[in-house]
Amino acid sequence: MAARLQGLGTTIFAEMSALALRTSSINLGQGFPDTDGPAPMLEAAVDAIRSGEHNQYPPGIGIAPLRHAVSEHQRRFYGLDFDPDTEVLVTAGATEAIAAALLALVEPGDEVIALEPYYDSYVACIAMAGGVRVPITLQAPDFRLDLDALRAAVTPRTKLLLINTPHNPTGTVLTPEELRAIAELACERDLLVVTDEVYEHLIYDDAPHIPLATFPGMRERTVTISGAGKTFAVTGWKIGWVCSTPELVTAVRTAKQFLTYVSGGPFQPAVAQALRFEDTYYDELRTSMQRKRDLLSSGLASLGLKVFVPGGTYFVTTDVRPLGYDDGVEFCRMLPERCGVVAIPHEVFYDDKAAGRPLVRWAFCKRDDVLTAAVDRLRNGL
Ligand code: GLN
Repeated sequence: MAARLQGLGTTIFAEMSALALRTSSINLGQGFPDTDGPAPMLEAAVDAIRSGEHNQYPPGIGIAPLRHAVSEHQRRFYGLDFDPDTEVLVTAGATEAIAAALLALVEPGDEVIALEPYYDSYVACIAMAGGVRVPITLQAPDFRLDLDALRAAVTPRTKLLLINTPHNPTGTVLTPEELRAIAELACERDLLVVTDEVYEHLIYDDAPHIPLATFPGMRERTVTISGAGKTFAVTGWKIGWVCSTPELVTAVRTAKQFLTYVSGGPFQPAVAQALRFEDTYYDELRTSMQRKRDLLSSGLASLGLKVFVPGGTYFVTTDVRPLGYDDGVEFCRMLPERCGVVAIPHEVFYDDKAAGRPLVRWAFCKRDDVLTAAVDRLRNGL
């Protein structure tokens, strides 16, 4: 195996989902919903397969109806204008978009600043691009961004900021002030910004999602990435997209075309339809997920865990020390056998292992009865 892949191992999500299957555990590890997405969207995919018109290669940049729907979505929710023909690119999920963006924009040796704890594919993709990751740690108890640390981390070798809000795994939603400061820094130091916004519609307590591309001077330096998996409960469809300038989209497409070329033919028209759902769809998604957040958070708190209630995403983080454990990895290894529940240790998302050691992430994108059963199992087993 090439040196740049050394140490990447197996993704924690695959490992923990396999463990959940092996032990018949409730899987609150890997983040995927346990109910299907909206029926009209599922029907549209079935119709697309049956029509026989979407089973061969779609265009490399994605089918026009989906690119138009993405463009309309950006205008409708954020007032951002992207030309569907030159400024939108469909990808195999946001994960491919991130990989292609980093491969397209990072020269070997360039520094990439990312928020720590970081989603594990960032580490792998920065490494595959030959970049050097520079973590900015969101510190417990509130996992806020330390703007002074961010400013101090920028060097002449910094090429880009990789920003994720709402943030996986902490659930932090960057505030307008934090986003403004990031935008000002990017402009001042002439940095590119890649933003992973896949949890854009999973933000609670009436907080807004504000794409970095909306700030002055940012549209031309930002690669905005999102996808359908989280918003429409179809993580297996792998339909993502990139919005940026024609130059940056061309760069990302140049890498993307040699990774997967294209993907998800019949899912593309279905997602195009879903993106145009009325506001009630998006409002109900948020309301129902916020209720699940509260259900699992209060359940975990009732067990004595210290709970960090997230502002967004479908993950809640806990500190396991109040239960007498000091190592989240050990805790998560013990949990399936002892309680029949799977969770994810934060430590795997940190360079600074000590900072992540006592923290454990739980997914709440599950049926209410499943969340309740998980808390009951934990109460009986811990
Ligand atoms: N994004 C999801 C999570 O954080 C799933 C990731 C994956 O399986 N690669 O759990």
